[in-house]
Amino acid sequence: MLAALERRLGPKGFTRDPADMAPWLSDWRGRVHGQAAALLSPANTDEVQAIVSLAAENRVAIVPQGGNSSMVAGATPSPDGHALLLSLRRMNAIRSLSVEDNVAVAEAGVILSDLHDAAAGIGRRFPLSLGARGSARIGGLISTNAGGTQVLRFGTMRSLVVGIEAILPSGERFDGLSALRKDNRGYDLRQLLVGAEGTLGVVTAASLRLVPAIGARAVAWVGLADPHAALTLLRRLEAATGEAIESFEAMPANALAMVLRHIPGTRAPLECAHAWNILIEATAPSGAPDPVERLTGLLAQAAEEGLIEDAAIAANEAQAEAFWKLREVIAEAERAEGPAAKHDISVPVSVVPDFLIDARAAVESRFAGTRVVGFGHLGDGNIHFNVLPPPDVDGKAWVEGEGKAVNAFVHDFVGARGGSLSAEHGIGQLKLAEFARTAGPARLHVLRAIKQALDPLGIMNPGKLIPPA
Ligand SMILES: Cc1cc2nc3c(=O)[nH]c(=O)nc-3n(C[C@H](O)[C@H](O)[C@H](O)COP(=O)(O)OP(=O)(O)OC[C@H]3O[C@@H](n4cnc5c(N)ncnc54)[C@H](O)[C@@H]3O)c2cc1C
Repeated sequence: MLAALERRLGPKGFTRDPADMAPWLSDWRGRVHGQAAALLSPANTDEVQAIVSLAAENRVAIVPQGGNSSMVAGATPSPDGHALLLSLRRMNAIRSLSVEDNVAVAEAGVILSDLHDAAAGIGRRFPLSLGARGSARIGGLISTNAGGTQVLRFGTMRSLVVGIEAILPSGERFDGLSALRKDNRGYDLRQLLVGAEGTLGVVTAASLRLVPAIGARAVAWVGLADPHAALTLLRRLEAATGEAIESFEAMPANALAMVLRHIPGTRAPLECAHAWNILIEATAPSGAPDPVERLTGLLAQAAEEGLIEDAAIAANEAQAEAFWKLREVIAEAERAEGPAAKHDISVPVSVVPDFLIDARAAVESRFAGTRVVGFGHLGDGNIHFNVLPPPDVDGKAWVEGEGKAVNAFVHDFVGARGGSLSAEHGIGQLKLAEFARTAGPARLHVLRAIKQALDPLGIMNPGKLIPPA
């Protein structure tokens, strides 16, 4: 089979060279390492179809990969080396952009920031962004149902995917690209593929919703005393500005300090340290009143009432980008800080303030010496709740040992509040055991039944998302 694949894909699309393969065999954090029989990089959908058909015939596993920025090692093959690593990187064409449909048709390998640029070129934008936008690709973003910093207003990837083209595990091609806003022909295969983590087929292209470009934006950095005040502020701003508030990101003092410590060129926007920092972005379409004035007035009023302690509004685009950088490099700063027990959890938004206070206190008292860094998308109820090991231990060993007990403790704490152990990163390999422990029989039954119906041979990304029976 490998010889047939090599003939079909040619030297650009097929390699077994260990040096070429090495960068793609470990996850972004360097925590999980795998092996593969070959790295395949098809140039088009026909080649993907040929690969999947051959793999099905030979019962060989396929691991689809986009930018390999998964936080849960979803795109890392298992160490046995039997699987084919299928990279969509070469399929990076934007096939069309339509102002009339407000839709872009992008291949799976298009990098998110390239789609942003292309949409801007026709006066539109693709309203989903995240720290990994320079490496994450459309197929990966769809397969993880990525979230990011504009979910508050535009929802996750699920609400932005209008159509999908995919190769199913049987080798059949699903042509679902047409940009229908309404289509009620029963089960929605498009939505099944969103968030499937490569377990139900290979996404080769997608039709994606565009929205009008931003006319102007206001980016503010706010310091305040506690997360209850933050939620009150969010709801107040929303009520006063309609749909203008796109992002509302919360960072405790220790997250900001970590960024300032590890990321060169960063500086705190406010003079004094505050227990909580909020990054707010408000936008307006072109021709509408500038949001800066409105946001400035609302924040001044909040300061007068004592709801917030201090605020700075970015004076220009460079400053706005500098504020955003502080938020977007937290993951990088954490990586530099060293290993931690990571959690990407969600709870109902109303529960977030109490959760941030109570969960931190509970974890730090139950696991002596640990420090919690909990930050994230407050308005979406999604917190990246990371627990740093005690300073005097080997961090890596701690994550593998006591870190597991921390995971269970946090996930149970979240579960008791009606939350989820994966808000936006997916399950992949790293959350599989905890997902199996907490999922409940009905959820697991449906998951396995769908998998069995679409991929009875179990060739699509085995060992990810679906807990073994
Ligand atoms: C610095 C940083 C910040 C991040 N911030 C966020 C954030 O704010 N919000 C968020 O949601 N995520 C975030 N992530 C996680 C990550 O960027 C997302 O999960 C992203 O969607 C992954 O895209 P990718 O192309 O790198 O996919 P990969 O990592 O390559 O793959 C992810 C999963 O999708 C599958 N897959 C990939 N391509 C295909 C395809 N074409 N067909 C079928 N299956 C496929 C893989 O098998 C794997 O299971 C962040 C990551 C980093 C490193």
